[in-house]
Order: sequence, then C-alpha cells, then structure tokens
Amino acid sequence: MKCPRCDIHEQDLELVMVGEVEVDQCKSCLGIWFDPNEVPELVSKDDLGDLKLTGKAMGVRTVLPLTCPRDSTTMEKVNDIRVADVQLDICPECGGRWLDGGELERLRQKGLLADIKNFFVTYILPD
Ligand SMILES: [Zn+2]
Ligand SMILES: [Zn+2]
Repeated sequence: MKCPRCDIHEQDLELVMVGEVEVDQCKSCLGIWFDPNEVPELVSKDDLGDLKLTGKAMGVRTVLPLTCPRDSTTMEKVNDIRVADVQLDICPECGGRWLDGGELERLRQKGLLADIKNFFVTYILPD
C-alpha cells in the first residue's frame, strides 16, 4: 500500500509488528494505517511495540482530504477537541483509520496517552 499522505512520492507503507498484530506505518511521515480488523486486537496491547512514535515527521498537515490506500475512497476527517487537536481520517468504505505521524507522540506529551487501550477504544475502534 502507498502512504496516503506521501502519495506523490509513492512512498510504501511498511509492516510494523505490535505484538503479533501487523500495522502499516510510513517511514517518511510516520503516519499509521489501521485496518479495522487490526484494531480490536491492538486494544489488548499494553504497548505499541515497534511503532515509531517519535521522530521528525516529513510532510505537512494539509486540509486536502486523503484517499484510502486500500480502495482510493476519499476519507473523512474526524476531529475531537477533547483530545487536543488530534485528527483521524476514516475511510467510509473499508473502515480503515489513518493517524498522522506525530499524533500519538503529541498525545503522550500532553499526558493524554496514559492509557493506550482507552485511546484505541475511543478513537480507533470501528463502531
Ligand atoms: Zn507518508
Ligand atoms: Zn478504504
């Protein structure tokens, strides 16, 4: 799959293991793609394994809608001011979730990521 954020650079997403769960992350912008069926398994994890939470995220946040790396559907932005300015993109077609690079780290710095499970349940878990 190509990174929806680094689309023009044709950047491939790389598999990252969180325990035995596979997650896709872009090594350029550090954005993370969650397949809907991956999320319920991630909720039970106590840490995020090999996911890179820190580092310089390339690319700029844009208001342009992203397209789903699986099916090219335009994704919908979900904002929730309860957790600062964290922004998720959700594909209405396949239910996949895209989290921009640095979002998890920003939450952590603000002390809002004390409970990873809580985060996944609230923001990443499909309805
Ligand atoms: Zn990227
Ligand atoms: Zn999709």
